[in-house]
Amino acid sequence: MTATGRSGSAPARTTMSGKSIVESQFERAANLIGLDQYMRRILMRPFREVQVEVPVRMDDGRIEVFTGYRIQHNGARGPCKGGIRYHPEADHDEVLGLAAIMTWKTALMDIPFGGAKGGVTVDPKKLSKLELERLTRRFTQRISIVLGPYRDIPAPDVNTNAQVMAWILDEFSSRHGYTPAAVTGKPVSLGGTLGREEATGRGVMYVMMEYARDFGIPLKGSRVVIQGFGNVGGHLARLLHAEAGAKVIAVSDVSGGVVNEKGLDVPALLAHTAAGKPVVEWPGGGGRAIANTEIWTIPCDWLVPAALGGVITRETNARTIDCKVVVEGANEPTTPIADLILEERGIPVIPDFLANAGGVTVSYYEWSQNLQQYRWTHEQVNRELHATITKAYVGVRDLAKQRGVTFRTAAYAIALQRVAEAERLRGN
Ligand code: GLU
Repeated sequence: MTATGRSGSAPARTTMSGKSIVESQFERAANLIGLDQYMRRILMRPFREVQVEVPVRMDDGRIEVFTGYRIQHNGARGPCKGGIRYHPEADHDEVLGLAAIMTWKTALMDIPFGGAKGGVTVDPKKLSKLELERLTRRFTQRISIVLGPYRDIPAPDVNTNAQVMAWILDEFSSRHGYTPAAVTGKPVSLGGTLGREEATGRGVMYVMMEYARDFGIPLKGSRVVIQGFGNVGGHLARLLHAEAGAKVIAVSDVSGGVVNEKGLDVPALLAHTAAGKPVVEWPGGGGRAIANTEIWTIPCDWLVPAALGGVITRETNARTIDCKVVVEGANEPTTPIADLILEERGIPVIPDFLANAGGVTVSYYEWSQNLQQYRWTHEQVNRELHATITKAYVGVRDLAKQRGVTFRTAAYAIALQRVAEAERLRGN
């Protein structure tokens, strides 16, 4: 492994869509396992796409109309599963690409789900809480025909949270009767599971722990840079600091970031952002504020993109990133060309659908608890998550070594094989 290059340039979102990112990576793995052409077609295309217009009464009395999507990519291995995101750039192709990633993620974790994703093209920061609730309820009404605990189960994603899931549950239940298993990532007091909120960050840490052991980059005292300080980045920083003894040296959110070579005081920073203040305004502990572009230039052991997709690109930072390993906490943060550049440079990438699969894995435990009307302890959730994600990691690591391919290609190969087998057994 090498760590070279010290300068950086301004990152920008790639123009390559989520759909095309996924397509090109899919082909590499499909070739590796010699997947039949007809099966490639089945697995490449979505099972069902729903696009809806969502009229919402705004606080000033006007009606504004938003476009929403629910795309069910594949359900061969179980009910479709995946989050709903609210974002101004969420569009058909992005949601489709993310739905496909969910199919590979649930297959790689070997949990009994398929893959789906939802999205509404909206900037939720411009909505009041009541407008957000009305939007969520209307969107749920319009897609509820394809939802259900054995059909398709939504969860949180970018800019949605347990409160949004509670509204979805309420709306769905008002038509179908009390159905907690219809949505995951709910508040614990409404049938959510302990440990779900931190699950994605915790899963990222578990994968890092295994990788650290295998590849000789001990987590304790190692330097971690995290781009994004939301649900994934925030919990990851907290856990790495508290449970792994890692030095989180820089984090950022949309407003900018902070860096401190000696390691940030993560609990204090979390208290600052919990009060609704941006990371960049944190005065604490001898760190200095940085612009968002600078986060990619900081030399470190682990670089974790944990916000939006398409942030590591050929045009911006792929040639200059200076880390020992990239861990994809976000979905699709690396474009395929950037992925190849990192490979050439000898910088390994732990792919999104392995690294960030903790969220959907604990969603599976939530769904199971709801169906059984039985509650697990937080320790039980963490123990099962550790076992599931570690097993998936070991499978990927071993295949990557055996076939001389990247972790991403190996992960795809395992997932494709499982979904293809389920399709074949169903008669396709
Ligand atoms: N949105 C999360 C993801 O991308 C979680 C999905 C889920 O729990 O269904 O994996």
